Amino acid sequence: MRVSNLFFATQREVPADAEIPSHKLMLRAGLIRKMSSGIYAYMPMGYKVYRNVEKVIREEMDKAGAQELIMPALLPAEAYQASGRWERFGPEMFRMSDRGGKPFCLGPTHEEPFTEAVRDTIRSYKNLPVTLYQIQHKYRDERRPRFGVIRSREFVMKDAYSFDVDEAGLDKSYQNMYDAYRKIFDRLGLDYTVVDADTGAMGGSGSQEFMVKSPIGEDAICFCDACGYAANEEKAYCQEAPACTDAELPVEKIHTPDVKTIEELIAFMNTTPDAFVKTIIYNIDGKIVAAMVRGDRDINDTKLGNIFEAMEMDLASFEDVERVTGAKVGFAGPINLKEKITVVMDTEVAGMKNFIVGACESDYHFKNVNVGRDFTPDVVKDIKNVKAGDLCPKCGQPIGMARGVEVGHIFKLGTKYSSALGCNFLDKEGKENPMIMGCYGIGVSRTLAAIIEQNNDEDGIKWPALVAPYKVVVIPTKTNDDEIMPLAEKIYEQFQDMGYDALIDDRNERPGVKFKDADLLGIPLRITVGRRASEGVVELKFRMTGEAREATVEEAIEAIKEIK
Ligand code: ATP
Ligand code: MG
Repeated sequence: MRVSNLFFATQREVPADAEIPSHKLMLRAGLIRKMSSGIYAYMPMGYKVYRNVEKVIREEMDKAGAQELIMPALLPAEAYQASGRWERFGPEMFRMSDRGGKPFCLGPTHEEPFTEAVRDTIRSYKNLPVTLYQIQHKYRDERRPRFGVIRSREFVMKDAYSFDVDEAGLDKSYQNMYDAYRKIFDRLGLDYTVVDADTGAMGGSGSQEFMVKSPIGEDAICFCDACGYAANEEKAYCQEAPACTDAELPVEKIHTPDVKTIEELIAFMNTTPDAFVKTIIYNIDGKIVAAMVRGDRDINDTKLGNIFEAMEMDLASFEDVERVTGAKVGFAGPINLKEKITVVMDTEVAGMKNFIVGACESDYHFKNVNVGRDFTPDVVKDIKNVKAGDLCPKCGQPIGMARGVEVGHIFKLGTKYSSALGCNFLDKEGKENPMIMGCYGIGVSRTLAAIIEQNNDEDGIKWPALVAPYKVVVIPTKTNDDEIMPLAEKIYEQFQDMGYDALIDDRNERPGVKFKDADLLGIPLRITVGRRASEGVVELKFRMTGEAREATVEEAIEAIKEIK
């Protein structure tokens, strides 16, 4: 491709809402174009990269024996109503109706239509297992679209679904996808970790996420370097301290005027945060709930929400807190609540003695509180976040924390969808059973952005060779020179003949401008044809490593094999 014909424009300025490198660079390099919040068009150069990522995914899925098909994005409501997700998706689902008033949605994920297709196609165990996939646009009205194509409202997902006759079959299908995912992310050159993930309130027997480590990641990951345990913070747990064996002291009510924050309370009581238990009041689907964790801990909303199969949860309003505690905000506790609400206590609190809690009375706390004697929680469950330094649940060594971008998710679903939608098969005995399902997603557009997050510098993108839109750019320093231009053309043609995606920057621009664009666009190999053209000598520069050297034309052609 001749750069003079290329449909692209690089930009110096990027909008203020582009906060992270990949978003900025995709806009600056003109790969994408914003149409609306969380909705992007791919320009030719961006689309080339996108298709290169898609190609790697498709190749590995095909090799794994998965079969590709394509579902519509516009889907009738019925199947989602039958599975319960028409309600569950809530405001995240894009909904509409046709001219006759029949309800539709834009598919946020496609378990339902795949399950229906398999239900209507397969009758017998003889035709199982099967794994199907598609690479297709998904629609989610995200609460907070951001980071460009990392969290957008229209995005591309590779979604696959496996159907088996039993759990052992599912384990195999799941492992097969796990292996394929590793190959995909390895080939794409990503530095990633596979973590245990939450399976949600609806069950499912196992789930893992593929996380690209990055400071901009929206997920927190807990990991143990000693034994390899790794889990999404949503799901991570830790070893708990042995129960305290101190004698129980009599409860004391303490006047704590003007003490509003936990820090003020610690200073006032002259103690440490782990001597407290904090009580946080939530509104979970309209129900008021109290959740208790040790004072130095944070509540894990996923764990708490799972107990109630929550659809919407938030902190309770000030009015609700004041009503159920009978006190100003900041004095909630499990004793003397003014209304009967569900009290959920973290398992760790069960091992504590003589702790401090809010007294459900403005400006008062209780000291020397003990579980069982002074109050009885309704639910005792692990509802805390793990933090760095907690002990690994597998081997007891200290846990570390990192940030990650979730690029893939694999999930043992079980029979949730097959049961709801009647996707059954006849077993050897002629008995009807629901199929055992798994589902497997990769965010294609998010993966592309994650590649940029891990491969960039102040000058622009550094594409790994496999995904680069063009592998090489030939830059003549002058376009009117009758030694330089013919040599540049010759090299460019040779790459084309060899089947490489090549660029020649034939624009009548200063070399500095062309170099800047080549760097921004992240083309792996740059070949500059300049002052030594008459001797047949050119200059090579590798974008990934920064290595530069002079070379003969033959060496320059060979150098394309060095890009990675
Ligand atoms: P997240 O927790 O980031 O919202 P999710 O758990 O909703 O992700 P899945 O439903 O498992 O995601 O979707 C499979 C994959 O699709 C994810 O691993 C991610 O790579 C991608 N994905 C999900 N939501 C978006 C989005 N809004 N924009 C871009 N990619 C997304
Ligand atoms: Mg999501």
